[in-house]
Amino acid sequence: MKTTAGYYDHASADPYAANIVEVRSEGDKTVLILDKTIFYPEGGGQGADWGTINGVPLLDVQEKEGEILHLVSGKEGKTLAVGKAELILDAARRRDLTVQHTAQHLLSGTILKLTGKYTVSMHLGEETNTIDVDAPELSDETLLQAEDGVMDAIEADTPVIIHLCPPEKAGDFPLRKAPPQGEEVIRVVEIKGNDFSPCCGTHLRSTGLIGMLRILGAEKYKGMTRVTFIAGKRVLLDSRALRQNGEIISRALKVPVTETGNAVLNLVDKANQLEKEIKELKEAAAHGKARNLLHKARILNSRERDTNEERPPVPVSGELEVYTVSYPDYEMEDMLHIGRAAQKLTSAVLVFFSHRENKFAAFCSAPDADIRPLFKGFLEAHGGRGGGGPSFFQGSFTAQENLDAFIASLPHEADVFTGTAKS
Ligand SMILES: [Zn+2]
Repeated sequence: MKTTAGYYDHASADPYAANIVEVRSEGDKTVLILDKTIFYPEGGGQGADWGTINGVPLLDVQEKEGEILHLVSGKEGKTLAVGKAELILDAARRRDLTVQHTAQHLLSGTILKLTGKYTVSMHLGEETNTIDVDAPELSDETLLQAEDGVMDAIEADTPVIIHLCPPEKAGDFPLRKAPPQGEEVIRVVEIKGNDFSPCCGTHLRSTGLIGMLRILGAEKYKGMTRVTFIAGKRVLLDSRALRQNGEIISRALKVPVTETGNAVLNLVDKANQLEKEIKELKEAAAHGKARNLLHKARILNSRERDTNEERPPVPVSGELEVYTVSYPDYEMEDMLHIGRAAQKLTSAVLVFFSHRENKFAAFCSAPDADIRPLFKGFLEAHGGRGGGGPSFFQGSFTAQENLDAFIASLPHEADVFTGTAKS
């Protein structure tokens, strides 16, 4: 049966008497048909109302083929039967959605007046709302002007008038968008003298009740501009959250809350500078560690050797000499720094490995050398993965015993273990 729409006239949390005329079971839901309802069914970009029917919470309200379907859970639906029903509306949610909806009409109308560009689609969300404006771009200045224009209309407390007319009369209004087809009655929502839009949603009596509107941003979307906005109490909650956040930054940086932006930029600059300095220090430290390592292995190239070094340098030509190295306390990342520094000081092959990560990395700087054949066969034989070029190769194993077997199988001159991270 056709349900009488009582939702335009009832927006409070006061109990409302109606009758359940039909109860249907649909999967894990129960669908209720009422003789009249205060619950707005989702449509026209506005979400469905929430509330209760005889204390059972509504999950959804939909309009299908002229029927208004009230959905509740199948389990709780078992407690409901045909007969008298008490409906209670979630008035706070209704008020919020109504505020957002009237604000959307006002914003779309204001942007149209400012730019001549129409709103093509809209979405009222639980947290933020969007309109898609048929303009490839809207400047920051235009968006600020739109906010100001909306604020002027809010302060003027312009009446919102609902016109019900037959479809052939809808053309008498300067409509912002085309009316829906196949309707017996067209509902035109007018923000007096400002905006005329066919709409089935719920609306405020006047624009003053919007309170405030803020545009949160605009982005390009399918050749149009998607404008995100909030209105009413959502602006207060947003402002509160921003203020709290601003005060945290303000206290941490010891600047007034209005100057936190520049203070953060300065801090980021400083952090970048420090990061650069740390990188340089790390490189210098890695260079020092690399020299220690090569002294220990006695494989420093002659021009890098100290004059009091006892042993002759390892010859560069001929077969590649392989040394395995592991710093037990280091991450592979730190060993890579040392490896890169050491690579400049010797032409031997250095194979760094980490038991923490079951990884290895090899470096060589001997001219025309290609270290890949040293590793590839062994790697495959021991279930490892890896790759690289002629002078750098790295790989990993899933188990430590595979890494150990791999290292032991390398034809190397010496293991250069360093005892601690500090050495
Ligand atoms: Zn609307």
